[in-house]
Amino acid sequence: MRSPFAFLSALLSPAPGRSVSHDHDARLTHMALHDQETGLGNRLSLERLAAGGEPVYVVLFGVDRFEVLRNAIGYDSMARLLTTLGQRLSGLTGRSVARVGAGVLGLVFQAEDDDEAVHMAARVCEAAQEPVILNGAPVDIALTAGIARTGETSRSVASPVDRASIAVDQARAAHRQAALFDAVRYGDPAGNLSLISELMAALDNGEFSLNYQPKYDFRAECVTAVEALARWTHPRRGCVSPDVFVVMAEETGHIRPLTEWVIHQAIHDQAELGRAGHDLMMSVNVSGRLLSDESFADFALAAVKASGARLCFEITETAVVGNPEVALHLLDRFAEAGISVSLDDYGSGLSSLTYLKQIRADELKIDKSFILGLDDSARDALLVKSTIDLAHGLGMKVTAEGVETPTALALLRGMGCDMAQGYLIGRPVSLPVLVERLGGPVHQATSAA
Ligand code: C2E
Ligand code: CA
Ligand code: CA
Repeated sequence: MRSPFAFLSALLSPAPGRSVSHDHDARLTHMALHDQETGLGNRLSLERLAAGGEPVYVVLFGVDRFEVLRNAIGYDSMARLLTTLGQRLSGLTGRSVARVGAGVLGLVFQAEDDDEAVHMAARVCEAAQEPVILNGAPVDIALTAGIARTGETSRSVASPVDRASIAVDQARAAHRQAALFDAVRYGDPAGNLSLISELMAALDNGEFSLNYQPKYDFRAECVTAVEALARWTHPRRGCVSPDVFVVMAEETGHIRPLTEWVIHQAIHDQAELGRAGHDLMMSVNVSGRLLSDESFADFALAAVKASGARLCFEITETAVVGNPEVALHLLDRFAEAGISVSLDDYGSGLSSLTYLKQIRADELKIDKSFILGLDDSARDALLVKSTIDLAHGLGMKVTAEGVETPTALALLRGMGCDMAQGYLIGRPVSLPVLVERLGGPVHQATSAA
């Protein structure tokens, strides 16, 4: 049978007319199938084993915190560590071991079913995690295993070695020793890719719209503000969640045009609400990435100046924590232009006191995860009450989001909270529905407060 690596031999062989020895050919084949640094098999060799015919499980073992470890002990020691680890894995399983990535070794084995494969991989991990002795000193290692079945087709990831590699990440994310590739959790990145390319055209094609969710003021006993929430109605996929397209827009540099469109539309709709007799503060979500973008600030300031709109920018802490100087400078510019700032999702991240110390915000929005548990968690209630007092002490108003029950609403009022937002007050709705409700059902719902 013609060797699948004949093309390599042909490419590397001496010019015609000179004899090609069998040794030379064998050496080239060996090189093509082995990792130079460790002498273990390479990815190609593992792929060949996986493609052997019988369905098998491909198991990859990722060395946890590989880069940190390599920087600590150096490249040469790392190569020796991997060689030792490879021999260990081979000894434990009786299989040949390949180096598939910088800190990833792999092998194939057979198992009765998926559960047994995961169980076996976890046991191998545990057994192989003994410290490796390098120059007389023990080096601690930890391994995570990712597993994929061969002979199975996955729309998004064709190669079982790639699927096993993704499974290593999935196992780490789930804090598990070993995990089988989970296609559902991996989603459909190829589909996402086409969505990204459609995002910009969607703005021009009018596929985006805004929904408005009311914010109820306890003292005024009525709705005094609304939050604009973007909606994308895709012609074939239907409604795409903002949790999907906002992240996508952030990752691909489309968040600025999207947010500028939202601001433009929200200002327009605020004027329309005003004409209908509803003078409402307008909150807009501003992604953290834009807090380092001066030209976005230029746009926002010009838009506010031209319209006299009353805007509040809801921001999350990640932007400020990541690049405080730049973010704080832009926040100052917003404040000068009369744009309020709200700290959104407060409590959902790491919410440090440094964050509160750094930012002069007008509003703190307590994350809905605390408010949804308010009815039956004394602990959540204590945290909410303390946060309200803390924010008040710093001169901020407090909005509670995710208010779904009359009990939560009453508790918040008792705690001195300033504003409430949530399904009880009103779900996000289109502008015409909002206008209709402001004259009717919204007041009915809120009068229960
Ligand atoms: P967010 O700013 O925290 O918005 C509140 C989300 O909670 C909204 O989801 C809203 O529908 C939902 N919600 C409101 N009240 C309740 C309640 O009582 N119970 C429960 N369980 N949920 C409630 P939505 O509209 O799906 O938006 C999700 C996220 O997408 C928003 O979270 C926001 O971070 C982002 N987003 C939406 N529009 C924009 C936008 O124009 N720009 C940016 N940068 N992000 C946006
Ligand atoms: Ca928000
Ligand atoms: Ca929020």
